[in-house]
Amino acid sequence: MTSPDNRPVQKIKGGCLCGAVSFAVINTFEKLFLCSCDQCRQITGSAFASNLFVSIKGFDWLAGTGDIVSYQVPGRDISKSFCRVCGSGVPWPNGDGTKMIVPAGSLSAPVNVVERVRIFASEQPAWASGLEQVSTHAAFPEGLGSEPMSAKPLLTKNSNKTRSEKS
Ligand SMILES: [Zn+2]
Ligand SMILES: [Zn+2]
Repeated sequence: MTSPDNRPVQKIKGGCLCGAVSFAVINTFEKLFLCSCDQCRQITGSAFASNLFVSIKGFDWLAGTGDIVSYQVPGRDISKSFCRVCGSGVPWPNGDGTKMIVPAGSLSAPVNVVERVRIFASEQPAWASGLEQVSTHAAFPEGLGSEPMSAKPLLTKNSNKTRSEKS
């Protein structure tokens, strides 16, 4: 297969977290839609869905189609496919079956995409706005803690005092 300007088309692989589902797809995506609609928020459990669109001709399943579960939002052209083992989002066909919609995060190589578009920005939750201003770390920072505060008190000025009073 070649691209419109006759360069050979490179394929990249993607799949779910547990490895049950995998696929290969041409790495020439026209658009990446970052969708903040209410349905995408709920279906991803996150601020927005990141979906690439690609012609179905450039897409091949490699393994695990029997492990894919799909959900169609009633009355809407919105659906979600995921691995029944690990819950990762995996690709699904669009309404007329001409394109595959590929969750960008399911790809394991750098993605060549021509244009990124944010849609339904009006429905973006407040906690996902102004991300440039949120404190940013290269990895999980020392001392931030993900445990409940009772298991590991926050390192505040009075935390030692509070602990000894309680014991
Ligand atoms: Zn999986
Ligand atoms: Zn959406």
